[in-house]
Formats: sequence, structure tokens, C-alpha cells
Amino acid sequence: MTTQVATQNSLLGVYRPAAPVFVSGSGRHLVARDGRTYLDFTSGIGVNALGYADAGIAAAMQTAIETGVVHTSNLFRTEPCVDLAGLLTSHSFAQRVFFCNSGAEANEAAFKFARKYARSSAEAGGEAEKHEIVALRGAFHGRLFGALAATDRPSMQQPFEPLMPGVQFITPGDVAEAAAVISAAKTAAVIVEPIQGEGGIQPLSAEYVAKLRELTDAAGALLIFDEVQCGLGRTGRLFAYEWLGVVPDMVTLAKPLAGGLPMGAVLMTEAVASVMVPGDHATTFGGGPFVSAVALEVVSRISDPSFLAEVRARGHQLETGLREIASKRAIKEVRGVGLMWGMELDQPAAPVVAAAMENGLLVISAGERVLRLLPALNIEPGEIAEGLSILEEVLS
Ligand code: PLP
Repeated sequence: MTTQVATQNSLLGVYRPAAPVFVSGSGRHLVARDGRTYLDFTSGIGVNALGYADAGIAAAMQTAIETGVVHTSNLFRTEPCVDLAGLLTSHSFAQRVFFCNSGAEANEAAFKFARKYARSSAEAGGEAEKHEIVALRGAFHGRLFGALAATDRPSMQQPFEPLMPGVQFITPGDVAEAAAVISAAKTAAVIVEPIQGEGGIQPLSAEYVAKLRELTDAAGALLIFDEVQCGLGRTGRLFAYEWLGVVPDMVTLAKPLAGGLPMGAVLMTEAVASVMVPGDHATTFGGGPFVSAVALEVVSRISDPSFLAEVRARGHQLETGLREIASKRAIKEVRGVGLMWGMELDQPAAPVVAAAMENGLLVISAGERVLRLLPALNIEPGEIAEGLSILEEVLS
């Protein structure tokens, strides 16, 4: 039966899965059906922040399942959902939280909140035409029609057009272009990833983001940070915006939020929240008690200052090792923060990803030539050293 599942493919062909079929995991390692163990530097594309078989997550799931209530709908409140919203706001700029099920959904919710705010808030002072979302070239915000419209990849967009109208793109770092495009009359919000993930691990400069804050404030527009990939401890701070010295109006989260269960969130200020009333937005599964209970465990652990200090220390170790490899090999650039790193190669990244897997290390690419490393946040020093040594061998 297991063999049948793995070889007889009834799945839609939108993914290109690698050969191993994983059957178990522990810590930072995955075990394949043939018994082979792999050190994982992808953590499920930034989702498994606490690794595999985490005892705390398992206990949170067990306790939550014993209540017998996995779902109530949003007709009712549940304690885990209310507590999780409280935990996220207590650690951030935000006063309100909306829960959904994925990163793309979180971004689309943020776009809706921004449009309503632009049209109904006295501060934004907008008319119907104040609806535009300004996004950055190279960014990735998801695959639904609104999120995809803000993701400027013609190959991803064109087969599905028409997408959500009203999106303008600007080039990261180009302040003059930002000033020309962001307008009081038309702009509802600007959305940026503080560190572009799918775009090849491209951190934005603090100066540029500060300028965007200035321009959005002047235009009565909102500033949204998409922290779906770079948020929740990935950079060694709970939120990536903490490195930038700029406070956004909304932050979107997903990937690691509920330890591998699907969950997204939009964090927002009271001013943004004040324009949304019952019936304006909803999703059946958002903030269910089971998923929220697991997320409470994840966020409680990740927000601990000593945990974050460890992430920064491991990040430093990884950065040092990567720069050392880069000094000896033909590597164009090493970029990143915390435990989010990209190595820009002078060759396609795919064969290197395949060779690393052959040698027992799972890594991922970001675009054509960037090798992306997103290990679990609780990775140990010896595991980083092991991953670096495999990478060095593969790159030679
Ligand atoms: N935003 C960013 C920055 C992402 O990296 C991703 C996914 O990779 C998304 C949004 C979309 O998230 P999801 O796949 O959960 O819809």
C-alpha cells in the first residue's frame, strides 16, 4: 500500500517532488522509507521552526485533542484563539489579530483591510480610487489572485490573468520611483517583505524601509510587512521589522506559526482594525482551537529572549561558515540574517541542491542561482557544522 501511494501518482502535477519518501523525523533529521537519514536545512520551507518530533508540540496537540473540540467556527470564541491573539499583540506593535489558514490568505486579508481603511478612515481620507497596492519587484506574496497580482513573476501570473487589478510595482531601493508611485490619491498600501525569501534572500535596507514609512505616512497609506517567511524568530528577533527600526501598520504571518499545521495571521493596529465590522471578512477555519493551541506553544517558545539569542548565535555560526566557503569557491554573494541565508552561485542552484541531497543534506533554491538555507530555529551547533561541511564538499 505504501509503495502504491509513493509510485502511483494521482496528485496534480504542480510540484516536482524529489525522490525520497519521508516516513519519520526527529530533531533536524528526516528519515526516508529506504532507511536513509537526511539533515534538513529546509525545515519544510521555513515551517518546522522547532524541528521534527518536538515534545512540546506533541504535548500541546495531545492536550488540545483531549478537549474533544478541534473546531467551533467563529460563531464562538475559544480560549486558545483569544490567548494566541493576546500573546502576538503583547510581543508586537499590534493591537488586533485576524487568523486565517495560509500566507497568501493573510496577504489578501491585509489588502482588503487596507482598501477599507483607505476609503473609510478620516486619516486616510480616501475616495474609491484610493485602492492601489504598491508591491516590490522580486517579491513573493502567494498564489491566490490578489497575492499573485502583487507577485511580479510573469510566468506565474500570465496563465491565470486577469488577476486583481490595482497593483503597482516599484524596484527595491529606488526611492525616487517609490516617491513617484506612492500617492495620496491612489495608494491604499505598500507591501514589502523585509527580507525577500523566494526572491533570493534579499534583505531590504533600513534606510529604504524608513523612506517607505515616510512616504506612506504622507500619503495616508498603510505599510504592510509580509513576514510569512522571515517572521517569527527566523531572523533572530521575533519579527523581522524589529531590525529595521520601522513600525508597520500590518504584519502578515503564516509558515511556522502553528508548528506545521496550516495557519496564517494578520497583525494590525487599532486604527486599521477600527474600520472592520462584523461581516466584512471571514474564513471558516481561521483561529480554530486545535491549531491555536499548537501555535500558542510555538509562539511562547520562539518569543523567549533566550531562544532568540540562540537563533542569533547559530545564525552567526552559519554565516561565518558560509562566508568561509564563499572565500574559497566561486560564490557570488552570501546574504541573510539569523537563520535565513542565501548563497548566490555562479551556476544554476538545482544541481547543487541535488548533490547536497545525495550527500545527506536537504537544501532549497530561491530562483535560478541562489541556494537557500532555512534550518530549524533550534538547530544545534554540531548540526550546523555538519551541514556546512557537506555544502563545502558539494560546492567543490
Ligand atoms: N509570502 C511569503 C513571503 C512567502 O514566502 C510565501 C510562501 O512561500 C507566501 C507569502 C505564501 O504563503 P502560502 O504558501 O502559505 O500561501
